[in-house]
Amino acid sequence: MTAPSGRRAQDLYRRYMAAAKAYRGHAVACTACGYTGPGPACPAGKRLFESLSVLQLAYISGLP
Ligand SMILES: [Zn+2]
Repeated sequence: MTAPSGRRAQDLYRRYMAAAKAYRGHAVACTACGYTGPGPACPAGKRLFESLSVLQLAYISGLP
């Protein structure tokens, strides 16, 4: 995969990584979601996972 260039891509990447970190942090601490589980299982986890998915898709589709 080519590294993204440009300020916008870098900003998107930062937000994507921040969202990933936020979800991981939640999943590790949350007994319902669980880091190695199939996915988010509580409302907070679902919200974090959703924003992560949106940013991930935006980041991937923004790549040249
Ligand atoms: Zn949770």
